[in-house]
Amino acid sequence: MDKKITIAIDGFSSTGKSTVAKRLAKELGYVYVDTGAMYRAVTLYMMRKVFVSEGNFDQEAIVRHLPFVSLNFVFNDDLGYGEIYLNNENVEKEIRYLEVSQQVSRVSAISEVRKMLVEEQQQMGKEKGVVMDGRDIGTVVFPNAELKIFMTASTEQRAQRRYDELKGRGDDISYEDVLQNVKDRDFMDSTREDSPLIMADDAVEFNNSRMGLDEQFEKILKIAKEKIAAANS
Ligand code: C5P
Repeated sequence: MDKKITIAIDGFSSTGKSTVAKRLAKELGYVYVDTGAMYRAVTLYMMRKVFVSEGNFDQEAIVRHLPFVSLNFVFNDDLGYGEIYLNNENVEKEIRYLEVSQQVSRVSAISEVRKMLVEEQQQMGKEKGVVMDGRDIGTVVFPNAELKIFMTASTEQRAQRRYDELKGRGDDISYEDVLQNVKDRDFMDSTREDSPLIMADDAVEFNNSRMGLDEQFEKILKIAKEKIAAANS
């Protein structure tokens, strides 16, 4: 049987990481893991407890309640990927609300939160055969991943993509709010102390401001197949 590899896809928010990662996983028969969904689900739990709100951020309570947060992905045949469950409740839709996006970078800067989720992610990928997307996959979660992709695109293009996605779902939001959120998260994710978003030295960079998603996907698939061939030679 073919040896499988680990594929890490990192980058700023709304660069199209998850679209590429899902397609790649499907094509290769690998498991797709959306690590952003995990940070979002922890944030949602803490928001429901009101440890996190616009005027409140109780880090001590967040850390204390982490053991009560149980996350798992349940494969949805229609969608072709796993949806995230928070304490056995499907929260796939709720975690994408702008309110959650506005708090998630603060929660994900907490080291205890990162430690718990990184361990779970390493566990999920221990047999390889995963395509994992996030911010620190190639640098912290799987520093030895055979293939590391780093995706970028202009801020405005990313905000537009996110806005179209949320509008398409029927959310009542403005482009300006989405753009502001993209900028805020870029700043917080790349300046936090623990595991900031940086490109791994051995990552391949893709800027899709200049490249269509299909063209980009074909290029990434080609590199992935070369890496898989190398792992089996
Ligand atoms: O990928 P997504 O935009 O859904 O991620 C939401 C947030 O979760 C990011 O803005 C970041 O703060 C956090 N995150 C992280 N590390 C990851 C994945 C996501 O800190 N590996």
